Amino acid sequence: MHPSALFAIDGLLTDEERDIRQAVRQVCDREIRPYVADWFEAGALPARELARSLGSVGVLGMHLDGYGCAGLGAVAYGLACLELEAADSGLRSLVSVQGSLAMYAIWKYGSEEQKREWLPAMAAGERIGCFGLTEPDFGSDPAGMRTTAERDGSDWVLNGTKMWITNGSVSDVAVVWARAEDGIRGFLVPAGTPGFAVHDLKRKVSLRASVTSELVLDGVRLPEEAMLPGARGLSGPLGCLNEARFGIVFGAMGAALDCLETALAYAAEREIFARPLASFQLTQEKLADMALELGKGLLLAVHLGRLKERGELTPEQVSAGKLNNVREALDIARTCRTLLGASGITLEYPVIRHAVNLESVLTYEGTSEIHTLVLGKALTGVPAFH
Ligand SMILES: Cc1cc2nc3c(=O)[nH]c(=O)nc-3n(C[C@H](O)[C@H](O)[C@H](O)COP(=O)(O)OP(=O)(O)OC[C@H]3O[C@@H](n4cnc5c(N)ncnc54)[C@H](O)[C@@H]3O)c2cc1C
Repeated sequence: MHPSALFAIDGLLTDEERDIRQAVRQVCDREIRPYVADWFEAGALPARELARSLGSVGVLGMHLDGYGCAGLGAVAYGLACLELEAADSGLRSLVSVQGSLAMYAIWKYGSEEQKREWLPAMAAGERIGCFGLTEPDFGSDPAGMRTTAERDGSDWVLNGTKMWITNGSVSDVAVVWARAEDGIRGFLVPAGTPGFAVHDLKRKVSLRASVTSELVLDGVRLPEEAMLPGARGLSGPLGCLNEARFGIVFGAMGAALDCLETALAYAAEREIFARPLASFQLTQEKLADMALELGKGLLLAVHLGRLKERGELTPEQVSAGKLNNVREALDIARTCRTLLGASGITLEYPVIRHAVNLESVLTYEGTSEIHTLVLGKALTGVPAFH
Protein backbone atom coordinates (compact mmCIF):
# COMPACT_ATOMS: atom_id res chain seq x y z
CA MET A 1 0.00 0.00 0.00
CA HIS A 2 1.25 3.48 -0.86
CA PRO A 3 1.62 5.57 2.33
CA SER A 4 -0.81 8.28 1.16
CA ALA A 5 -3.42 5.58 0.34
CA LEU A 6 -3.69 4.85 4.08
CA PHE A 7 -5.57 8.11 4.52
CA ALA A 8 -7.24 8.10 1.07
CA ILE A 9 -5.82 11.57 0.39
CA ASP A 10 -6.48 11.36 -3.35
CA GLY A 11 -10.20 11.22 -2.68
CA LEU A 12 -10.01 14.72 -1.22
CA LEU A 13 -8.69 16.17 -4.48
CA THR A 14 -10.47 17.25 -7.65
CA ASP A 15 -9.58 15.77 -11.05
CA GLU A 16 -7.95 19.07 -11.98
CA GLU A 17 -5.80 19.02 -8.84
CA ARG A 18 -4.67 15.46 -9.52
CA ASP A 19 -3.83 16.42 -13.13
CA ILE A 20 -1.76 19.40 -11.98
CA ARG A 21 0.10 17.26 -9.47
CA GLN A 22 0.83 14.73 -12.22
CA ALA A 23 2.03 17.42 -14.63
CA VAL A 24 4.45 18.86 -12.05
CA ARG A 25 5.64 15.37 -11.14
CA GLN A 26 6.42 14.69 -14.80
CA VAL A 27 8.52 17.85 -15.10
CA CYS A 28 10.39 16.90 -11.93
CA ASP A 29 10.96 13.34 -13.19
CA ARG A 30 12.24 14.62 -16.52
CA GLU A 31 14.18 17.75 -15.64
CA ILE A 32 15.10 17.66 -11.95
CA ARG A 33 15.36 14.19 -10.41
CA PRO A 34 18.03 12.79 -12.76
CA TYR A 35 20.37 15.73 -12.08
CA VAL A 36 19.56 17.10 -8.66
CA ALA A 37 22.10 15.07 -6.66
CA ASP A 38 24.84 16.39 -8.96
CA TRP A 39 23.61 19.98 -8.56
CA PHE A 40 23.52 19.46 -4.80
CA GLU A 41 27.05 18.05 -4.77
CA ALA A 42 28.37 20.85 -7.00
CA GLY A 43 26.43 23.52 -5.12
CA ALA A 44 25.26 24.92 -8.46
CA LEU A 45 22.18 24.57 -10.64
CA PRO A 46 20.95 25.89 -14.00
CA ALA A 47 18.40 28.19 -12.38
CA ARG A 48 17.49 30.18 -15.51
CA GLU A 49 16.76 27.09 -17.62
CA LEU A 50 14.79 25.56 -14.78
CA ALA A 51 12.77 28.74 -14.28
CA ARG A 52 11.81 28.69 -17.97
CA SER A 53 10.79 24.99 -17.78
CA LEU A 54 8.75 25.58 -14.64
CA GLY A 55 7.22 28.69 -16.21
CA SER A 56 6.19 26.68 -19.27
CA VAL A 57 4.07 24.37 -17.10
CA GLY A 58 2.54 27.34 -15.32
CA VAL A 59 3.72 26.79 -11.74
CA LEU A 60 5.30 30.24 -11.25
CA GLY A 61 2.72 32.39 -9.52
CA MET A 62 0.09 29.76 -10.38
CA HIS A 63 -2.16 30.83 -7.47
CA LEU A 64 -2.26 34.47 -8.65
CA ASP A 65 -4.88 35.87 -11.04
CA GLY A 66 -4.19 37.71 -14.27
CA TYR A 67 -0.91 39.05 -15.75
CA GLY A 68 -0.06 35.65 -17.24
CA CYS A 69 -0.70 33.72 -14.00
CA ALA A 70 -2.94 30.66 -13.93
CA GLY A 71 -5.26 31.71 -11.07
CA LEU A 72 -5.47 28.19 -9.61
CA GLY A 73 -6.65 27.20 -6.13
CA ALA A 74 -4.57 26.88 -2.98
CA VAL A 75 -4.63 23.07 -2.92
CA ALA A 76 -3.44 22.87 -6.54
CA TYR A 77 -0.59 25.23 -5.67
CA GLY A 78 0.21 23.22 -2.56
CA LEU A 79 0.37 19.99 -4.55
CA ALA A 80 2.80 21.60 -6.99
CA CYS A 81 4.98 22.56 -4.00
CA LEU A 82 4.72 18.99 -2.70
CA GLU A 83 5.91 17.50 -5.99
CA LEU A 84 8.73 20.02 -6.33
CA GLU A 85 9.94 19.41 -2.80
CA ALA A 86 9.73 15.64 -3.31
CA ALA A 87 12.44 16.32 -5.88
CA ASP A 88 14.38 18.83 -3.76
CA SER A 89 13.56 21.58 -1.25
CA GLY A 90 15.89 23.89 -3.21
CA LEU A 91 13.71 23.70 -6.32
CA ARG A 92 10.59 24.29 -4.29
CA SER A 93 12.37 27.27 -2.73
CA LEU A 94 13.08 28.71 -6.18
CA VAL A 95 9.38 28.45 -7.03
CA SER A 96 8.14 29.68 -3.62
CA VAL A 97 10.37 32.75 -3.67
CA GLN A 98 9.48 33.54 -7.27
CA GLY A 99 5.71 33.03 -6.94
CA SER A 100 4.79 33.57 -3.31
CA LEU A 101 7.32 36.20 -2.30
CA ALA A 102 8.54 38.25 -5.27
CA MET A 103 5.53 37.92 -7.62
CA TYR A 104 3.01 38.03 -4.80
CA ALA A 105 4.54 41.27 -3.46
CA ILE A 106 4.20 42.88 -6.89
CA TRP A 107 0.73 41.38 -7.49
CA LYS A 108 -0.60 42.45 -4.10
CA TYR A 109 1.15 45.77 -3.48
CA GLY A 110 2.42 46.89 -6.89
CA SER A 111 1.17 49.62 -9.26
CA GLU A 112 -0.52 48.66 -12.52
CA GLU A 113 2.72 49.54 -14.39
CA GLN A 114 4.85 47.39 -12.06
CA LYS A 115 2.49 44.45 -12.50
CA ARG A 116 2.51 44.76 -16.29
CA GLU A 117 6.24 45.16 -16.44
CA TRP A 118 7.21 42.21 -14.25
CA LEU A 119 4.47 39.63 -13.70
CA PRO A 120 3.94 38.12 -17.19
CA ALA A 121 7.70 37.64 -17.70
CA MET A 122 8.10 36.22 -14.19
CA ALA A 123 5.17 33.80 -14.69
CA ALA A 124 6.87 32.59 -17.87
CA GLY A 125 10.17 32.13 -16.02
CA GLU A 126 11.90 34.59 -18.33
CA ARG A 127 12.67 36.83 -15.39
CA ILE A 128 13.51 35.77 -11.85
CA GLY A 129 12.80 37.62 -8.63
CA CYS A 130 14.09 37.50 -5.07
CA PHE A 131 12.81 38.85 -1.76
CA GLY A 132 15.12 40.73 0.57
CA LEU A 133 13.82 41.02 4.11
CA THR A 134 16.38 39.31 6.38
CA GLU A 135 19.52 41.20 7.40
CA PRO A 136 22.73 39.94 9.00
CA ASP A 137 21.52 41.07 12.44
CA PHE A 138 17.76 40.77 11.98
CA GLY A 139 16.16 37.47 10.97
CA SER A 140 13.46 36.50 13.45
CA ASP A 141 12.95 40.16 14.29
CA PRO A 142 12.66 41.94 10.93
CA ALA A 143 11.13 45.01 12.64
CA GLY A 144 14.69 45.92 13.70
CA MET A 145 15.95 46.19 10.11
CA ARG A 146 18.65 48.76 9.41
CA THR A 147 18.28 49.11 5.64
CA THR A 148 17.06 52.61 4.94
CA ALA A 149 15.21 54.33 2.11
CA GLU A 150 15.64 58.10 2.05
CA ARG A 151 14.05 60.67 -0.20
CA ASP A 152 16.29 62.75 -2.45
CA GLY A 153 14.08 64.99 -4.57
CA SER A 154 11.62 62.62 -6.22
CA ASP A 155 14.10 59.70 -6.00
CA TRP A 156 14.69 57.16 -3.27
CA VAL A 157 18.18 56.22 -2.05
CA LEU A 158 18.61 52.79 -0.42
CA ASN A 159 21.44 51.74 1.91
CA GLY A 160 21.88 48.46 3.77
CA THR A 161 22.58 44.74 3.52
CA LYS A 162 20.20 41.82 3.08
CA MET A 163 21.34 38.32 3.97
CA TRP A 164 20.40 34.73 3.09
CA ILE A 165 18.44 35.77 0.01
CA THR A 166 17.21 32.87 -2.13
CA ASN A 167 17.60 33.38 -5.93
CA GLY A 168 19.67 36.52 -5.19
CA SER A 169 22.38 36.35 -7.86
CA VAL A 170 20.11 34.88 -10.56
CA SER A 171 17.42 37.51 -10.09
CA ASP A 172 16.43 40.23 -12.53
CA VAL A 173 14.61 42.08 -9.79
CA ALA A 174 14.91 42.16 -6.00
CA VAL A 175 11.95 43.08 -3.81
CA VAL A 176 13.80 44.94 -1.04
CA TRP A 177 12.19 46.01 2.24
CA ALA A 178 13.65 49.14 3.81
CA ARG A 179 12.90 51.61 6.57
CA ALA A 180 11.55 54.92 5.24
CA GLU A 181 10.36 57.96 7.19
CA ASP A 182 6.79 56.64 7.28
CA GLY A 183 7.67 53.03 8.12
CA ILE A 184 8.80 49.93 6.24
CA ARG A 185 8.29 50.14 2.46
CA GLY A 186 8.98 47.75 -0.40
CA PHE A 187 11.10 48.62 -3.48
CA LEU A 188 11.75 46.92 -6.80
CA VAL A 189 15.50 46.97 -7.41
CA PRO A 190 16.47 45.79 -10.91
CA ALA A 191 19.72 43.79 -11.20
CA GLY A 192 22.58 45.96 -12.35
CA THR A 193 21.34 49.17 -10.70
CA PRO A 194 24.47 51.19 -9.73
CA GLY A 195 25.38 50.59 -6.07
CA PHE A 196 23.55 47.24 -5.96
CA ALA A 197 25.92 44.26 -5.50
CA VAL A 198 25.07 40.58 -5.00
CA HIS A 199 27.41 37.93 -3.56
CA ASP A 200 26.60 34.24 -3.30
CA LEU A 201 26.94 32.56 0.08
CA LYS A 202 29.34 29.64 -0.13
CA ARG A 203 30.08 26.57 2.01
CA LYS A 204 26.40 25.76 2.61
CA VAL A 205 25.71 22.19 3.70
CA SER A 206 21.95 22.50 3.25
CA LEU A 207 19.87 23.64 0.23
CA ARG A 208 22.89 23.29 -2.02
CA ALA A 209 20.66 23.06 -5.10
CA SER A 210 19.50 26.61 -4.46
CA VAL A 211 21.15 30.01 -4.84
CA THR A 212 21.52 31.91 -1.55
CA SER A 213 23.01 35.41 -1.65
CA GLU A 214 23.85 38.59 0.17
CA LEU A 215 22.44 41.83 -1.31
CA VAL A 216 24.45 45.00 -0.69
CA LEU A 217 22.75 48.35 -1.31
CA ASP A 218 25.22 51.20 -1.30
CA GLY A 219 23.51 54.45 -2.25
CA VAL A 220 21.16 52.70 -4.69
CA ARG A 221 19.16 55.45 -6.41
CA LEU A 222 15.68 54.51 -7.56
CA PRO A 223 12.89 56.53 -9.14
CA GLU A 224 9.63 57.19 -7.30
CA GLU A 225 7.94 54.43 -9.37
CA ALA A 226 10.23 51.75 -7.87
CA MET A 227 8.30 51.78 -4.58
CA LEU A 228 5.43 49.33 -4.07
CA PRO A 229 2.57 51.77 -3.39
CA GLY A 230 0.28 49.29 -1.62
CA ALA A 231 2.64 48.11 1.16
CA ARG A 232 3.16 50.12 4.32
CA GLY A 233 4.67 48.72 7.51
CA LEU A 234 5.74 45.18 8.37
CA SER A 235 2.36 43.77 7.34
CA GLY A 236 3.58 44.11 3.73
CA PRO A 237 6.41 41.55 3.89
CA LEU A 238 4.57 39.44 6.48
CA GLY A 239 1.63 39.08 4.07
CA CYS A 240 4.03 37.63 1.49
CA LEU A 241 5.65 35.28 4.02
CA ASN A 242 2.26 33.89 4.92
CA GLU A 243 1.79 32.88 1.28
CA ALA A 244 5.16 31.17 1.08
CA ARG A 245 4.69 29.40 4.42
CA PHE A 246 1.47 27.91 3.13
CA GLY A 247 3.40 26.29 0.25
CA ILE A 248 5.86 24.82 2.76
CA VAL A 249 3.02 23.07 4.63
CA PHE A 250 2.57 20.92 1.52
CA GLY A 251 6.17 21.02 0.33
CA ALA A 252 7.66 19.52 3.50
CA MET A 253 5.34 16.55 3.14
CA GLY A 254 6.70 16.04 -0.38
CA ALA A 255 10.23 15.67 0.96
CA ALA A 256 8.93 13.31 3.66
CA LEU A 257 7.01 11.22 1.13
CA ASP A 258 10.07 10.84 -1.09
CA CYS A 259 12.09 9.67 1.94
CA LEU A 260 9.42 7.21 3.01
CA GLU A 261 9.01 5.77 -0.49
CA THR A 262 12.77 5.34 -0.70
CA ALA A 263 12.94 3.66 2.71
CA LEU A 264 10.04 1.32 1.93
CA ALA A 265 11.68 0.17 -1.29
CA TYR A 266 15.05 -0.23 0.44
CA ALA A 267 13.59 -2.18 3.36
CA ALA A 268 11.86 -4.58 0.97
CA GLU A 269 15.11 -5.36 -0.87
CA ARG A 270 17.78 -5.20 1.81
CA GLU A 271 18.46 -8.58 3.43
CA ILE A 272 19.74 -8.60 7.00
CA PHE A 273 20.16 -11.76 9.10
CA ALA A 274 18.85 -13.59 5.99
CA ARG A 275 15.54 -11.75 6.07
CA PRO A 276 14.27 -8.56 4.40
CA LEU A 277 14.76 -5.48 6.56
CA ALA A 278 11.02 -4.83 6.09
CA SER A 279 10.15 -8.03 7.96
CA PHE A 280 11.49 -6.89 11.35
CA GLN A 281 9.06 -5.50 13.89
CA LEU A 282 11.32 -2.56 14.76
CA THR A 283 11.39 -1.61 11.08
CA GLN A 284 7.64 -1.91 10.75
CA GLU A 285 7.11 0.28 13.78
CA LYS A 286 9.27 2.99 12.20
CA LEU A 287 7.41 2.68 8.90
CA ALA A 288 3.98 2.71 10.54
CA ASP A 289 4.80 5.75 12.67
CA MET A 290 6.13 7.63 9.67
CA ALA A 291 3.08 6.76 7.56
CA LEU A 292 0.87 8.10 10.36
CA GLU A 293 2.71 11.42 10.58
CA LEU A 294 2.82 11.73 6.81
CA GLY A 295 -0.91 11.07 6.50
CA LYS A 296 -1.77 13.51 9.30
CA GLY A 297 0.47 16.14 7.73
CA LEU A 298 -1.16 15.70 4.32
CA LEU A 299 -4.64 15.90 5.83
CA LEU A 300 -3.66 19.09 7.63
CA ALA A 301 -2.22 20.55 4.42
CA VAL A 302 -5.37 19.83 2.39
CA HIS A 303 -7.57 21.15 5.20
CA LEU A 304 -5.58 24.42 5.40
CA GLY A 305 -5.72 24.64 1.62
CA ARG A 306 -9.50 24.40 1.61
CA LEU A 307 -9.67 27.08 4.33
CA LYS A 308 -7.43 29.29 2.19
CA GLU A 309 -9.64 28.76 -0.85
CA ARG A 310 -12.61 29.95 1.19
CA GLY A 311 -10.64 32.97 2.42
CA GLU A 312 -10.78 31.70 6.01
CA LEU A 313 -7.15 30.73 6.68
CA THR A 314 -5.55 32.64 9.56
CA PRO A 315 -1.79 33.30 10.04
CA GLU A 316 -1.90 31.20 13.23
CA GLN A 317 -3.22 28.23 11.25
CA VAL A 318 -0.40 28.67 8.73
CA SER A 319 2.07 28.72 11.65
CA ALA A 320 0.54 25.50 12.99
CA GLY A 321 0.88 23.84 9.58
CA LYS A 322 4.43 25.02 8.97
CA LEU A 323 5.60 24.09 12.46
CA ASN A 324 4.04 20.64 12.46
CA ASN A 325 4.76 19.56 8.92
CA VAL A 326 8.39 20.68 8.74
CA ARG A 327 9.15 19.21 12.15
CA GLU A 328 7.55 15.88 11.24
CA ALA A 329 9.14 15.84 7.78
CA LEU A 330 12.57 16.29 9.34
CA ASP A 331 11.86 13.51 11.79
CA ILE A 332 10.72 11.22 8.96
CA ALA A 333 13.84 12.05 6.91
CA ARG A 334 16.11 11.23 9.86
CA THR A 335 14.32 7.95 10.61
CA CYS A 336 14.44 6.93 6.94
CA ARG A 337 18.15 7.67 7.02
CA THR A 338 18.57 5.14 9.80
CA LEU A 339 16.72 2.49 7.77
CA LEU A 340 19.15 2.94 4.90
CA GLY A 341 22.13 2.36 7.18
CA ALA A 342 25.44 3.53 5.72
CA SER A 343 23.82 3.90 2.28
CA GLY A 344 21.68 6.55 3.89
CA ILE A 345 24.57 8.98 4.16
CA THR A 346 25.32 9.04 0.43
CA LEU A 347 23.79 11.06 -2.38
CA GLU A 348 22.96 7.77 -4.16
CA TYR A 349 19.68 8.04 -2.28
CA PRO A 350 17.70 11.26 -1.77
CA VAL A 351 17.18 10.83 1.97
CA ILE A 352 20.20 12.61 3.50
CA ARG A 353 19.76 15.42 0.94
CA HIS A 354 16.16 15.90 2.07
CA ALA A 355 17.21 15.71 5.73
CA VAL A 356 19.84 18.43 5.47
CA ASN A 357 17.59 20.55 3.23
CA LEU A 358 14.81 20.38 5.79
CA GLU A 359 17.17 21.91 8.36
CA SER A 360 16.95 25.13 6.31
CA VAL A 361 13.20 24.79 5.85
CA LEU A 362 12.88 24.51 9.64
CA THR A 363 14.64 27.88 9.95
CA TYR A 364 13.43 30.02 7.06
CA GLU A 365 9.97 31.52 6.68
CA GLY A 366 9.83 31.79 10.46
CA THR A 367 11.84 29.42 12.63
CA SER A 368 10.11 26.61 14.52
CA GLU A 369 10.65 28.62 17.72
CA ILE A 370 8.92 31.68 16.28
CA HIS A 371 5.93 29.62 15.07
CA THR A 372 5.75 28.01 18.50
CA LEU A 373 5.57 31.49 20.03
CA VAL A 374 2.85 32.47 17.54
CA LEU A 375 0.79 29.51 18.74
CA GLY A 376 1.64 30.27 22.36
CA LYS A 377 0.34 33.79 21.94
CA ALA A 378 -2.81 32.55 20.19
CA LEU A 379 -3.51 30.08 23.00
CA THR A 380 -2.73 32.30 25.99
CA GLY A 381 -3.22 35.80 24.64
CA VAL A 382 0.23 36.66 26.01
CA PRO A 383 3.05 37.47 23.56
CA ALA A 384 6.39 35.95 24.62
CA PHE A 385 8.54 37.10 21.70
CA HIS A 386 10.61 39.59 23.71
C1 LIG B 1 18.71 28.67 2.91
C2 LIG B 1 18.02 29.91 3.40
C3 LIG B 1 17.32 30.70 2.51
C4 LIG B 1 16.70 31.89 2.98
N1 LIG B 1 16.04 32.69 2.06
C5 LIG B 1 15.58 33.93 2.46
C6 LIG B 1 15.01 34.84 1.52
O1 LIG B 1 14.85 34.52 0.33
N2 LIG B 1 14.65 36.07 1.96
C7 LIG B 1 14.80 36.48 3.25
O2 LIG B 1 14.46 37.61 3.57
N3 LIG B 1 15.33 35.61 4.18
C8 LIG B 1 15.72 34.35 3.82
N4 LIG B 1 16.29 33.49 4.74
C9 LIG B 1 16.49 33.96 6.11
C10 LIG B 1 15.60 33.30 7.14
O3 LIG B 1 14.27 33.75 7.01
C11 LIG B 1 16.20 33.59 8.52
O4 LIG B 1 17.38 32.82 8.60
C12 LIG B 1 15.27 33.26 9.65
O5 LIG B 1 14.23 34.20 9.73
C13 LIG B 1 15.98 33.21 11.02
O6 LIG B 1 16.75 34.35 11.19
P1 LIG B 1 18.30 34.21 11.67
O7 LIG B 1 18.97 33.21 10.80
O8 LIG B 1 18.83 35.58 11.72
O9 LIG B 1 18.19 33.57 13.11
P2 LIG B 1 17.96 34.37 14.47
O10 LIG B 1 16.80 35.29 14.33
O11 LIG B 1 19.27 34.96 14.89
O12 LIG B 1 17.59 33.19 15.44
C14 LIG B 1 18.56 32.33 16.07
C15 LIG B 1 17.81 31.36 16.96
O13 LIG B 1 17.11 32.09 17.96
C16 LIG B 1 15.76 31.69 17.98
N5 LIG B 1 14.92 32.78 18.43
C17 LIG B 1 14.68 33.95 17.82
N6 LIG B 1 13.82 34.70 18.54
C18 LIG B 1 13.51 33.97 19.64
C19 LIG B 1 12.68 34.18 20.77
N7 LIG B 1 11.96 35.29 20.91
N8 LIG B 1 12.61 33.21 21.71
C20 LIG B 1 13.32 32.08 21.57
N9 LIG B 1 14.12 31.81 20.54
C21 LIG B 1 14.21 32.75 19.57
C22 LIG B 1 15.46 31.31 16.55
O14 LIG B 1 14.30 30.51 16.45
C23 LIG B 1 16.73 30.55 16.20
O15 LIG B 1 16.65 29.26 16.72
C24 LIG B 1 16.82 32.26 4.32
C25 LIG B 1 17.52 31.43 5.22
C26 LIG B 1 18.10 30.26 4.77
C27 LIG B 1 18.83 29.39 5.74
